[in-house]
Amino acid sequence: RGQRLPYDALLVATGGWANPLQCQGVQGCRHIYNFVTLDDTKTIIERMLESRTALAFGGSFISYELCDGFAARKLDTTWLMRGPYWLRNCLDFQGGEVVDNIAKKFGVEVIHGDEIESVVPKNGVPGYVKTKKGREIQTDMIGVGLGITLNTSILANTPINVRHGVVVNEYLETNVPGVYAAGDIAEFYDMTVNEHHTMGTWDNALAHGRIAAINMAGGHQPYLDVPTYTSPLFDVNIAVVGTAESNNPELQSISLREPGEKGNENYRKLFFRDNKLVGVLMIGSPKGRKKLVDIVKNQQPLETAVEREAVLTLK
Ligand SMILES: Cc1cc2nc3c(=O)[nH]c(=O)nc-3n(C[C@H](O)[C@H](O)[C@H](O)COP(=O)(O)OP(=O)(O)OC[C@H]3O[C@@H](n4cnc5c(N)ncnc54)[C@H](O)[C@@H]3O)c2cc1C
Repeated sequence: RGQRLPYDALLVATGGWANPLQCQGVQGCRHIYNFVTLDDTKTIIERMLESRTALAFGGSFISYELCDGFAARKLDTTWLMRGPYWLRNCLDFQGGEVVDNIAKKFGVEVIHGDEIESVVPKNGVPGYVKTKKGREIQTDMIGVGLGITLNTSILANTPINVRHGVVVNEYLETNVPGVYAAGDIAEFYDMTVNEHHTMGTWDNALAHGRIAAINMAGGHQPYLDVPTYTSPLFDVNIAVVGTAESNNPELQSISLREPGEKGNENYRKLFFRDNKLVGVLMIGSPKGRKKLVDIVKNQQPLETAVEREAVLTLK
């Protein structure tokens, strides 16, 4: 509205917005859903009640939550993802297979390495989708989890440094003194791995908020935290601690796959940098998670392979 609002310190915490499905056939076609708000959830549930088939598209958390929801309501569910396995930036083939097996136990058909080329509507709702590899998948509804686009456009004509996110130092301050960023939008300097990155979790957003507030009020406190993320994954749990990045050449990883409960498997992957544990990914049993978080927090050196293997089986 053209108002001018003075500030001593300014926080940018505009987060991101879910990327929509963009392909031939989506225009004017109902029952293609992103999954962000409570209203989205209500609408998706309404449509599930009148559907027989559903397609979840995407290779990360939102798509599996949609897939889990579809399968829990006994829809004939297909889970389609572009990558070679789920969560390809954190997992590997073995971990991906563990997740696939859990999904298959719930009747989900999992398809990797393919993507939607077009939606073929019938009377304004999905009839089926065609994939790039020539599949035709019948579906009454489509749920998409295709990542987010960070809301950085308000900074377009400012001197504030924006790369993927808004670049901030360890005090969460941008290159313009007095302007801070926090949460999903912040490309922050992570002192545990000595590099900038973004992280899209509540835990991270909350911890950023606290530190940014302290520094905006005149404090001088660096952000040094180990964000954690836990979530149900069908009938097991997944936990991600710290920096769990398979595609980061600076990190080394070891993993363990073993029989778990309810006919599932447990999968644990540890990420090290310079012999220090910096990230953990656990699927299945959460036993040992707190101890692992402490090891990441304490930056305890694990010099030998034997020490690192011992952490892999810590309960
Ligand atoms: C379906 C779903 C499930 C999730 N589940 C989990 C989970 O289980 N665990 C977990 O850790 N994380 C989860 N997340 C991620 C988590 O929600 C985000 O990491 C967290 O909300 C980030 O907080 P934020 O404050 O940085 O940004 P946001 O929560 O995105 O808030 C940004 C706010 O800024 C507003 N805004 C944007 N642009 C402007 C503008 N120009 N002017 C004014 N206001 C603006 C937006 O409207 C919004 O209110 C989930 C996300 C989704 C979508």
